[in-house]
Amino acid sequence: MDNTLSDRQIDVLSGIGPQRARLFGRLGIKKVGDALYYLPYRYEDRSKISDICDLECGSAATVKGRVVSSLIRSSGRRRFSIVEVVIGDGTGCVKAKWYNQPFMQKNFPAGKEVVLSGNIPDVPFSGGILEIENPEYEDATPDGAPGIHTGRVVPVYRLTDGISGKQFRRIMSEVIRSCSEELYDFVPEEITARYGLPSLRESILQVHFPGPGTPLDLLNKGTSGYHKRLSFNELFLFELGMTLAKKKRRKRKRSPLHCRGNMMKEVLERLPFVLTAAQKRTVDEILGDMKRPYPMHRLLQGDVGSGKTVVALLAMLHAVECGCQAALMAPTEILAEQHFFNIRRMIEPLGIRCGLLNSGSGKESRDAVTSGDTPVIIGTHALIQEGVVFRDLGLAVIDEQHKFGVMQRSLLRKKGMNPHLLVMTATPIPRSLALTLYGDLDSSVVDEFPPGRKPVVTKVVDAVEKKLVYEILNKEVGEGRQAYVVYPAIEDSEKSDLKSAQQGKEALERIFPVFRIGLIHGKMKTMERENVMNSFRDGQIDILVSTTVIEVGVDTPGATVMVVVHAERFGLAQLHQLRGRVGRGSYQSYCLLIAYGPLGGDAGRRLAIMEESADGFRLAEEDLSIRGPGDFLGVRQAGMPDLNLADILRDADILEIAKKEAVSLLEESPDLREYPFLKRSLEKFWNGRDDFYKAG
Ligand code: ADP
Ligand code: MG
Repeated sequence: MDNTLSDRQIDVLSGIGPQRARLFGRLGIKKVGDALYYLPYRYEDRSKISDICDLECGSAATVKGRVVSSLIRSSGRRRFSIVEVVIGDGTGCVKAKWYNQPFMQKNFPAGKEVVLSGNIPDVPFSGGILEIENPEYEDATPDGAPGIHTGRVVPVYRLTDGISGKQFRRIMSEVIRSCSEELYDFVPEEITARYGLPSLRESILQVHFPGPGTPLDLLNKGTSGYHKRLSFNELFLFELGMTLAKKKRRKRKRSPLHCRGNMMKEVLERLPFVLTAAQKRTVDEILGDMKRPYPMHRLLQGDVGSGKTVVALLAMLHAVECGCQAALMAPTEILAEQHFFNIRRMIEPLGIRCGLLNSGSGKESRDAVTSGDTPVIIGTHALIQEGVVFRDLGLAVIDEQHKFGVMQRSLLRKKGMNPHLLVMTATPIPRSLALTLYGDLDSSVVDEFPPGRKPVVTKVVDAVEKKLVYEILNKEVGEGRQAYVVYPAIEDSEKSDLKSAQQGKEALERIFPVFRIGLIHGKMKTMERENVMNSFRDGQIDILVSTTVIEVGVDTPGATVMVVVHAERFGLAQLHQLRGRVGRGSYQSYCLLIAYGPLGGDAGRRLAIMEESADGFRLAEEDLSIRGPGDFLGVRQAGMPDLNLADILRDADILEIAKKEAVSLLEESPDLREYPFLKRSLEKFWNGRDDFYKAG
């Protein structure tokens, strides 16, 4: 199948030189075949040819007629010209106008039959003849068949500067005409037959240049039968990969971890609280997994503040008592450091050593991991670097999993011999997304908060009313509580007029000269940050000014106020995470979202939802509907292949079918030996993520 036109670089096409090839590259189209899957983002119905006498102002229309006259009008100013072409169809005449494109005139010799499609402005002038401004035009086809740009439902593509919609559409029509013969479908025929799916070739033709018959609204929603067929292909590859990964994992072996649970018991006795029922249940589920002869692969979900850390700690202690090492990886240095200090405080009295591995760690810390001196290791990405060797990693925990990618998950897992894996996330995910993102994981949910939490009072404050925020800060801090003030930037910059943490701190120092104000951000050294975090935790800092480095996981129960400056700049998930930093103790907490208006639609909606709801699940769904699944949670960062055609929300029904068919095909042909082309397509789709597509 190589050496086909689809496999060649786009510039083999006539009309595409190096410069255009670069433009196409910008759209992600490198090879000719890529263009086949570059779908229109909407369609315009230009199939109805109107009689000129029926045209109305303020509408869009397509007309067909012969050129009556054409001329170039130059206006007084130099280099300003208008091409005016009058065409008539026997029912009347209409005038088309193009500005500053004098070369246009040669397209319209008198008597030629053309089709025009465009908007008729609301106000007619020039002596009663209607005008169409800047219409798309093309020569009428001899037999009245639909053209490329007119006389049909036409595709509208996302473009990049330097190429017009018409040029692009023409090239696409050429690509599709010349490549569709080569299209070879990797989906076994019995599957497409079972669901009556149209052929791949037909589907590609139809999604680009739909024939009559397909309703415009289905096309625009991307749910025509042809669109569904293309989504199916993509989701089928997706589900095959997921299923293979799961099967592969089930085949791994390890010796079950059994112990008496003394370490756990001791830590439980020292905790200043008792576990919630949800925590107990999830601990049991996890221990159950670890006692099996194959590795655990579990997602622990729980809203911000539900108490996931202690669940992870207990699992880690189980592994350690069984003689293995346990590692916890966190996405930021601050969070890793915090986990380290908390966990060390709890386990060192039992004689269990705990190590920290972050970007600043030296050989000594790594050696302690290798020798097994530190059975419990907390760290950042530093944990998965090459030089880090564990003596015997039995359990790998990933905190705030959505901040990591699948690749990083797999790298950490590879640090041990089939270790158990527990990934945690505070971001609740709608089921359909969970299926795709974490389809290869079992899941547990901490669906209950520790007792005595008061809901955080959330208020959106217009920047001009900042005084209100100062009053609350004054009162709360005056009574001995603490506050976070979060800014979107570290320092003021000439490039933006965003308020910054550095300047914010100085302002707060002027307003509250008696309060102790600290600053923390990502550019500080680990040691400096550690000092600041420690001082805040110990109550030596009253107000902690920060960037979003404190977004995830940070836990200081004495803090009762979270102020977010430029809240309109933050996403819902982020705001919810930030709010989760307060409301952790027994005092009433406040989340004050300072907005610099005027607020655009989405920003206004986000902030209103924050005021209304504290339910992470509800927020996640709203987030999804505002942003769409592509951006949600950084699905991309998660290291999953991009879904270019399918939309897992819209195509949930197809996802189900794809999953069912993937599972049954792999039962019949576990290594896909009988389907070499499918196998290759699978490898290409999962590009390098070999956990997913390599059978066996
Ligand atoms: P998250 O799930 O967001 O990671 P944490 O593990 O940071 O939440 O826990 C939030 C806070 O709740 C911590 O201060 C923790 O000590 C406390 N906590 C956890 N479990 C309980 C419990 N059962 N009772 C009371 N407080 C708890
Ligand atoms: Mg946490």
